[in-house]
Amino acid sequence: MQANNETTTTTPYFTGGERDSIRRQLLEWYDQEKRSMPWRDNPSEYRTVVSEFMLQQTRVDTALPYFERFTARFPGWRALAEADEQDVLNAWSGLGYYRRARMLKRAAETVHHKYGGKLPRDAKKLAALPGFGEYTTGAVGSIALGMALPLVDGNVRRVVGRLRALEGPLNAGPGKQALWDVCTEMVDPERPGDFNQALMELGATVCSPQDPMCLVCPVFAHCQARAKGDPTRYSGRIERPPLRIVQEIAVVLTKEIKGREQILLLRRGESGSFSGMWELPRLDEREIEEDELTPERVLFEVVRIRPRTAESIGEAESSFTHHKIKTRLFKCPMPPRAAVRRQRHVQHEWIRPEEFEKLPSSKAQRRLLELALKKE
Ligand code: SF4
Repeated sequence: MQANNETTTTTPYFTGGERDSIRRQLLEWYDQEKRSMPWRDNPSEYRTVVSEFMLQQTRVDTALPYFERFTARFPGWRALAEADEQDVLNAWSGLGYYRRARMLKRAAETVHHKYGGKLPRDAKKLAALPGFGEYTTGAVGSIALGMALPLVDGNVRRVVGRLRALEGPLNAGPGKQALWDVCTEMVDPERPGDFNQALMELGATVCSPQDPMCLVCPVFAHCQARAKGDPTRYSGRIERPPLRIVQEIAVVLTKEIKGREQILLLRRGESGSFSGMWELPRLDEREIEEDELTPERVLFEVVRIRPRTAESIGEAESSFTHHKIKTRLFKCPMPPRAAVRRQRHVQHEWIRPEEFEKLPSSKAQRRLLELALKKE
């Protein structure tokens, strides 16, 4: 543990040597309690960036096997910069939020071609890299480069919100400003990466949303929410717009080829959401009037096929940040002598169901395929 000098500075959020005490106690706790993770145990600038992109929307346990496979397949900036984007999406397949994979590849291209394989040591240049938002800039800057930058994720929001008993939504307006001010002031200038990871680790393992373990918390003595007797009241509340429900229809279009049933998959173009990914023919109510949303209409709009029958084979839900998609799934045999004429996609393939795994596709599409296969 590296010692920090005790100071007696008083600030709007900390009194006397409180800030230094919090830093010291948190870092001592982190040194003893931090969980082993491949990007911590064997760090590099590249591995830190890959891990932070994966962790933007994904839990640590889920990201771990993907991280190992991804970094084995693309071990450094150059390998990722020069890789085919479809291969990158393939390696990311199943993690969801594929925009992250595309942005990560673009960031690798910039680091490799523009910065000679080293991250820029400048917060503004770092923040300008593809896919680097507030959180990733703080995480990569502090963890990989030792820059005294704060970061805020859900765990930090809750821990810091409780430490200083911050009121109101903390993702907008004065609440967000106060939160970032506290984090900026708190971050340890000598070990910023460890300090930020300690805050996140505390939120993940001790200061849980509903049942914080205050008695074993290293910053118990400085926690204002705990002192007020009701830490769960200060849970880093954020304001979210109401979740929109979107109706969708997806179709498993089947055709017998060489005595085996095959299904039609389509690849999306390079712009918009899920770009470059493979999917079933589908449309939702944002693309077509809800009362016209039928399997027949979907197939006609997407591939100019007019099916003779459509069998309902199930329903599924997929949640995204701001909306939830409710999908009704149908199975239609390909009419004889009909031909696929793509209207919205750039490629199509007839594949056997077991081949689906090889093509990059979203979690939602995988779930639909699994549903279709169960019905067979
Ligand atoms: Fe969270 Fe309790 Fe620690 Fe405060 S004392 S930071 S509420 S675990």
